[in-house]
Amino acid sequence: MTEKRFSIVSVGWVLVLALFGLAVPARAASKLKIVTATTDLAEFASQVGGDRVEVDSIAKGYQDPHFVEAKPSFLLKLRRADLLIVVGLQLEIGWLPPLITQCGNPNVQVGANGYLDASQFAEILEIPTGIVTRAMGDVHPFGNPHYWLDPQNGRRIARGIATKLGQLQPESAGYFEERSQAFSKRIDDAEKGWDAQMKPYRGRKVITYHRSWPNFTKRFALDVRGEIEPRPGIPPGPRHTVELIQLMKRENIKVILVEPYFDLKTPNAIARETGAQVVVLLPSVGGENEVTDYFKLFDYDINLLLTAFKATP
Ligand SMILES: [Zn+2]
Repeated sequence: MTEKRFSIVSVGWVLVLALFGLAVPARAASKLKIVTATTDLAEFASQVGGDRVEVDSIAKGYQDPHFVEAKPSFLLKLRRADLLIVVGLQLEIGWLPPLITQCGNPNVQVGANGYLDASQFAEILEIPTGIVTRAMGDVHPFGNPHYWLDPQNGRRIARGIATKLGQLQPESAGYFEERSQAFSKRIDDAEKGWDAQMKPYRGRKVITYHRSWPNFTKRFALDVRGEIEPRPGIPPGPRHTVELIQLMKRENIKVILVEPYFDLKTPNAIARETGAQVVVLLPSVGGENEVTDYFKLFDYDINLLLTAFKATP
């Protein structure tokens, strides 16, 4: 008798546990699973999605986003994803398309409902006119894909992501919209400080390694006079470097901006010849450990620029 009662109680517990066990994954599943190509897009998605999303970036913030070695673990993440957000404009053309086709998830295929190209929301600069050929180097035929480095584009991308998340999870649409507005407001406030700090240096001439900064330099009115790459994606060569040194001497250009994933040998050699400062500026969230969000990214870069500009009057 006792034994029988015991077993009934056990069955009861098993039922309770089974129900509870079912309830927990069902809840967790209501979080939208987002995979982004880059950390900056992950940042926008997290800012907007809050605790109703799970976000993973394929590229790390210190990697060159043109050349990412995607780990197999990302195939699994893509397979389970509700949404894939990409930079687009062919930035990821060298590594992302095979991951998309191999992941076997129909939702995140190009053009599907769970595929979002963030470039559609942003102001895009340097859209080439005329025919683009390989001889021009690694020119992006649809315009410069490094567009997230203008706070205005940050706001626009966040709003676009909020709309998409609201479509995928209509019951949270208001939540995403509110968070997107709060994020925009925080950018507005931060921008006032960045503007005030950068204002004295409007029109300053700089050299950059790659054409990663057109949106940033336009926003803060810096004047990019040349690149260390002779053409986009083409490594520096002696003839171009000599011409660049002559230009820098002629125009008194004293600041060279380099992305963290490029070799500093040529920038340092040019700096020695010209008395310029080399500044390793971060194009992405996560480029350094302390740069954990979009605000810290601008804080970090602007701080380095101010130091370099002050040291080279
Ligand atoms: Zn590029």
